[in-house]
Parts: sequence; structure tokens; C-alpha cells
Amino acid sequence: MIVDNYHKVQEELANIAKEGEREAAELIVVTKTQETHRVKPLLELGHKRFGENRVQEAKAKWPDLRETYSDLELHLIGPLQSNKAQEAVALFDCIQTVDREKIARAIAKEMDRQGLTPSLFVQVNTGEEPQKAGISPADSLEFVAWMKNDLDLKVRGLMCIPPADENPGPHFALLGKLANEAQVKDLSMGMSGDYGIAAKFGATHVRVGSSIFGPRA
Ligand SMILES: *Cc1c(COP(=O)(O)O)cnc(C)c1O
Repeated sequence: MIVDNYHKVQEELANIAKEGEREAAELIVVTKTQETHRVKPLLELGHKRFGENRVQEAKAKWPDLRETYSDLELHLIGPLQSNKAQEAVALFDCIQTVDREKIARAIAKEMDRQGLTPSLFVQVNTGEEPQKAGISPADSLEFVAWMKNDLDLKVRGLMCIPPADENPGPHFALLGKLANEAQVKDLSMGMSGDYGIAAKFGATHVRVGSSIFGPRA
């Protein structure tokens, strides 16, 4: 089941890429709340790229798996508190949720201290929802420039989670436009409900959980 679903998602991404004559979006398999035995079939297949939204959960799950499965790429896709920056930098290959100065500074400091260089995305709150993480679109360009110039951090791309009750297309288009203006390359957008749309809007990374594992408990 899980493996079949995984192949279906990959196939859909490959078809969309073919139609659009572009490279397929990279699939980040979101394993939050999933127990290891449900993730293993995908590791056995050779899938390398996974996402978790909590530092503590990832810390409990992934160091052991990394000993068995090499070259894994682990993405932090949930909000990060600056007191967790040390653990996040140690654990993740990519941090997708940089959205304010304090957290950017904490990450920069830990990268320096630990000699590690996780890649970084800036999360943009494209719907400007008060309860949602992410920097506002209006502040995003200045923030990316500040990270580059003042902190000497390389920003790989932008990430967004559109409002649940809206057509996601305009949000994906906005994220693409901002990335272009900020001169960053990658776009992390699209989840189970809308990864096909995101891929058509040029997502380089989609984050998919329940379409592969089924609904979360
Ligand atoms: C949980 C989560 C996902 C995956 O959601 P599904 O709808 O299960 O595919 C993607 N992105 C973020 C930031 C998440 O927290």
C-alpha cells in the first residue's frame, strides 16, 4: 500500500514534468507521526529524502535509521524555536522554515560552531494568516538579502503553506515570483492535496505525507 502510493505520487510528478518539459519536483516524504516500520519499506526502495516537522520527534527516529541507510536527506518543515537551533543544525540537512531574524541568527551561530552547512529555505506566509509561521511576502525580499549579506548565509529557496481553504495556485505563483526577485532557485510547495498543482507552478520540492501513508491518526 505505502509503496504503491509512493510510486503513484512519483509517477504523477514525472508525468507533470514531462508535460511541462522540466525536471520533476523532488519528493520529500513527510514521516511525522509515522512509526519507523512504516517508513522502512521506502528506505528499502532507496528513497532518500524525508521531512519531519518536530525536532524532538526527528531526533528520536532518524539517527538510528541513518546508521543503516546512508546518504539520507532530512528536511525540517515545521516551525523552529531558537533554543532548538543547535539540535536542528546537528540533525537536519535542510531547514525549510527560517522566517525571522532571531532564528536566522541562531542557525548561523550553530552552523559556525558545529561546522555544518544545512541548506536553508525561507518560509513565506503567502496568505498572511496571523496564526501561521512565515515571513510576510512584503518583507521576504529584504529578509533574504539580509541573510545573505549580514549573516553570510546561502538561501536555497522559498517555502510556503497556502491557506487551507483557498485555491493554492495564486499562492504558488506568488512564491515563484518572490523567489525570482530574491534570486533564489528552489521552491518547496505542495502537499498531499495540491502537489500536482504545485508541480505545475514550478515546485522543485513537494512535501507529501498522507497521500503515501494514509490519514494521520
Ligand atoms: C504535515 C506537513 C506536510 C504533509 O502534509 P500531507 O497533507 O499529509 O501531505 C507538508 N508540509 C508541512 C509543512 C507539513 O507540516
